[in-house]
This record gives sequence, structure tokens and C-alpha cells, in this order.
Amino acid sequence: MIEFACPHCNKALSMPEDLIGKKALCTYCHGAFMITMLDASSESGEEEPGSAHGADDENSPVVRERVAKDLEAACPEQDLLRRHAVYEALIVRYYEQRHQGAAALAHCIQACLQHIALAPRAKQALEQARPNSPLPTHMGFDLLSTIREKQGKYSEVVRLAQQAKSQGWTGDWDKRIDRCKKTSIIRKVK
Ligand SMILES: [Zn+2]
Repeated sequence: MIEFACPHCNKALSMPEDLIGKKALCTYCHGAFMITMLDASSESGEEEPGSAHGADDENSPVVRERVAKDLEAACPEQDLLRRHAVYEALIVRYYEQRHQGAAALAHCIQACLQHIALAPRAKQALEQARPNSPLPTHMGFDLLSTIREKQGKYSEVVRLAQQAKSQGWTGDWDKRIDRCKKTSIIRKVK
């Protein structure tokens, strides 16, 4: 549940979270409002034109290629679980270099994205290898949601946490979702 004050009559209301993004009516004054996730980044318009394909852009071909090469160097074989583990090591390495410049963080984010893309197959392989153990934590999901939360990209954090939770990776996903949803805002609708 989310608790907030009605933007029309100021009475305390609580509503289920699935109303986020939808129009709702106040039970007291019947005023209409919208519950929206507010991302810090969407406010400041941080997107800089021109830097779209630089070495510090997490999705640039340069960054993708470098991460692919680093993975190949550390793990020439195609073994899925080995790759899953090598991604974790790469992610940690890039993250530790982040104070050296924006490029290291971009590489770290790209490695997290690739690690997450591999996650459904890694989950299957882990469950086959250890049928009775719960899935461990997942570096890509863990670190990327931490980075995105620091960046104020709360709706992405919620999406990541829901994805990780539904796949069954261990983590404080509900707490994270809750924390990010608390940053929601309520907008008046006439
Ligand atoms: Zn009201």
C-alpha cells in the first residue's frame, strides 16, 4: 500500500501499489488524481546529445565490444555457468575502477546488462546442478539496481527488482521496490 494525502482535500489516503500510473478517485472528496513514479533523471534531462556513442555510453558499440572481449579473454569456453561467474568478476573489476572515469561505470553497467540477459539460462543451469538449493544472489541485478537507485532511475529499479524476484534470485527485492515506490508522487487531475 502507498500512503499519501489527497491533493484536493488533504485527507490521508492509502491505495494499493498497482494503482501506480493510473487515475484514481479520493474516497472522501471524489477528486481525481494520478499516482506516478518520479525519476530524478527524467526531471533533470541528463541526456546529453553528442555523447551518445562515446566510450562512457553504456550501450555504445565500443563499450559492448570491450566487455565482449574481456569476457572472451577471461572465459574462452562456452560453458554457461563459468560465463555466469566470469561476468560477476568482470562487473566487480569495472566497478572498482569507476573512480578513474565514466567509462569504467559504463563498462560495469554494460556487463550487468549482459549478465542479466544471461540470467534466465543461468537460473536453469543452476537449478539443474543444485536442484534443492535456492538461487544465490545475482551480481548483475544487485549492482545495476544499486547504481540505478543512486541515479534516481526508480522506475527502472522497480522493473529490475521485479524481474530478479520473479526469476527467484536471492535479495531484498521487496524492500528495494518499496523504497523506490515511496518516491512516487501524486498528481492532481482535474
Ligand atoms: Zn480528497
